[in-house]
Amino acid sequence: MLHNLGSINLDHYYRVPHLVQPGETLASHGYHVGQGGKGANQSLAMALAGGRVCHWGRLGRQDSWVRERMADAGIDVSHIELVDEPSGHAIIQVDDQGENAILLYPGANHGFTRQHWEQLSHTVRDGDWLLLQNECNGLPDLFHSAHARGLHIAFNPAPMSDSVLELPLEACALLFVNRGEAAWLTGLAETSASEILLAGLLRRLPTTPTVLTLGAEGAWYQSADERHFQPAMPVQAVDTTGAGDTFIGYYLAALQEGQSVTRCLRLASQAAAIGIQRPGAADSIPARQEVEARLNPQ
Ligand code: ADP
Repeated sequence: MLHNLGSINLDHYYRVPHLVQPGETLASHGYHVGQGGKGANQSLAMALAGGRVCHWGRLGRQDSWVRERMADAGIDVSHIELVDEPSGHAIIQVDDQGENAILLYPGANHGFTRQHWEQLSHTVRDGDWLLLQNECNGLPDLFHSAHARGLHIAFNPAPMSDSVLELPLEACALLFVNRGEAAWLTGLAETSASEILLAGLLRRLPTTPTVLTLGAEGAWYQSADERHFQPAMPVQAVDTTGAGDTFIGYYLAALQEGQSVTRCLRLASQAAAIGIQRPGAADSIPARQEVEARLNPQ
């Protein structure tokens, strides 16, 4: 089983003629709300890929529909608490030119306590995985107790912040980083060639297997003694939001099945490539059958 202690957000999208200015009151001419949060989206991708995933999360009581939706997708939601706090949410303005401005409130995602880590330690079984991102509080404690409990930690340090540099990243069994996160971790320029970023990651974390995703360029897997490259599928991107989340969920589902690194990379790239041809993040994650059909056309 993979346990994902991760954020659940509600994304409120407002369509506006222009981004609201200081002191201005602006009428929006479109609105919709969707499920978001890197944690929830990665769980969703893993479940749609057929993986066994238990999500540990906190959600405002009034938003229980999100938990139901996650359960319908096949996620074990028994450790998603409904609490008397506002859910994590984002207020997203998108103007008619496609520019956006985002206000993020972490809400219930930042209410984890020692009790949660203890409950997690008692619930997991030997050999289980723990997936983490950087949208919930308490990562240092969680890293410590998960490592002591012998869990395999998979970590996606997104959104990146300086606090990540303080974490014992060498405790990770697998690290997922995109170009920007790799640059931040290594102190290299974001525009560095992939070879330079890979060498920097190896210097920084010589024994930590790492997947480096590079958008339309593709993705690398690197460990102390192996390297594999998977070029991105040549597709016309419509909306790349959530590409990394789809990639990670699919990669981990394939890994759970015991697939090879090359197969994990291929499946994950194909899933992400389908997702980016559709608008939205959670709504664009494809089901396994569709991904396999694209990989193995009749
Ligand atoms: P993130 O969303 O975390 O920034 P990336 O942009 O690196 O992550 O994308 C993750 C993966 O999604 C890539 O490694 C690639 O497989 C796929 N992907 C992203 N953008 C494209 C694109 N324009 N064309 C094809 N595949 C893409």
